[in-house]
Amino acid sequence: MTRKYQVVIAGGGAAGIAVAASLKQRQADLRIAIVEPRQTHIYQPGQTLVGRGVMTLPQLQRPTAKLLPKGVDWLEHRIAAFEPEHNAVRLDNQERLEYDQLVVALGLELNIEAIEGLAETLGQNGVTSNYVTELAEYTWQQVQRLGSGKAIFTQPPMPIKCAGAPQKAMYLSCDYWKKQGCLNDIRVEFHNAGAVLFGVADFVPVLESYVRDYGARLMFSSTLVRVDGPNHKAWFAQSEGGELEVEFDLLHVTPPQRAPQVVRDSVLANEAGWLEVNQNTLQHPRFANVFALGDVASAPNAKTAAAIRKQAPVVARNLLAVRQGQAINSGYSGYGACPLTVEAGKVVLAEFGYGGVLQPSFPLNPRRPRRFYWWMKTTLFPWVYWNLMLKGREWWLKHERPSGD
Ligand code: FAD
Repeated sequence: MTRKYQVVIAGGGAAGIAVAASLKQRQADLRIAIVEPRQTHIYQPGQTLVGRGVMTLPQLQRPTAKLLPKGVDWLEHRIAAFEPEHNAVRLDNQERLEYDQLVVALGLELNIEAIEGLAETLGQNGVTSNYVTELAEYTWQQVQRLGSGKAIFTQPPMPIKCAGAPQKAMYLSCDYWKKQGCLNDIRVEFHNAGAVLFGVADFVPVLESYVRDYGARLMFSSTLVRVDGPNHKAWFAQSEGGELEVEFDLLHVTPPQRAPQVVRDSVLANEAGWLEVNQNTLQHPRFANVFALGDVASAPNAKTAAAIRKQAPVVARNLLAVRQGQAINSGYSGYGACPLTVEAGKVVLAEFGYGGVLQPSFPLNPRRPRRFYWWMKTTLFPWVYWNLMLKGREWWLKHERPSGD
């Protein structure tokens, strides 16, 4: 069976819903299908807060059906294959959807299998991850349980979504142990596959001051490769060769991340497997009727919900321009934001674009931790997500022309 839509949106997570809402705000009669198998939508930026007991999992969840814009057809299936040469996608029930234009918003995949022994022990033996929605509450249980011993936090090679989240988990845990008076009895290590604490140098000094204050040990170029949960041991590949064996009482893992298999297998992918786009226009370089945004896209921005808020109207404008035979008229300069929760009650709000260029929203020194930003992270940002971004209400967003215009 084949159905035809003007626009097919692959994936109805943060990016898929935001772009559907943005398109419908601009052209209400557009015939759009969203292909999304999940009935429950998750506000993922809140998972860090669940891992510290500041929010609960149910506060992050809403039914997908209630979030989709009116007049959009929801197909509760998975995309099984892309056929861009035929302007079509194939679904897991063998149905074929034809489109005039396609938007790919499939997010990314946690590659848990890449670490030997991890799948068997995640959620047990003190091994946890705020990146796995169902385990954020387990993180909080384990943080509260630990009064002494060794806590290890890991960060895999880039790219990952919200690159600050691995260290946010460490800061919030240390802050709790400090307030409980047991931090001195806990040895904390942060094993980072990369060579720097944070990719934008402006924010490193303030983060280092928290690392010092919490007495945490930073291990660079140290990549988790194997876990033995029942025996509480983990192994890290070292850049100079060999493996380091480490014992732990709590192990917070950030798994390596990659594009979903259906994207990696498709001609739409770049060499690294991400959905290839022009980083400014978010249009595919070889298939002009294909756009992508969110975590799946190859653009080298920080993979965050904050980035999607800026990307969705760019894709909507450019897609409609192409429909009307006009030139692409909107550009994205790589904005992403990472609210670094350095303690419960204070945040360093890292806002930056391509090349690490700072793009602060407020005329304040962005390198300083502030209570105001904590209020934004815990209260304002979730409100903006549910009530503005997923509804196509583009308040406070500036329209930028494509670069080179
Ligand atoms: P997703 O929201 O993951 O959506 C992808 C969708 O595609 C899913 O619904 C999935 O079901 C669907 N899908 C997958 N495969 C298929 C298929 N074959 N067919 C059809 N559908 C499919 N961002 C911030 O801005 N600030 C933060 O502080 C922040 N902190 C974070 C902390 C953590 C622990 C995590 C995990 C993320 C954080 N983020 C943060 C990142 C942010 O949540 C993500 O960048 C954002 O949710 C990505 O949205 P997306 O739509 O690209 O992907």
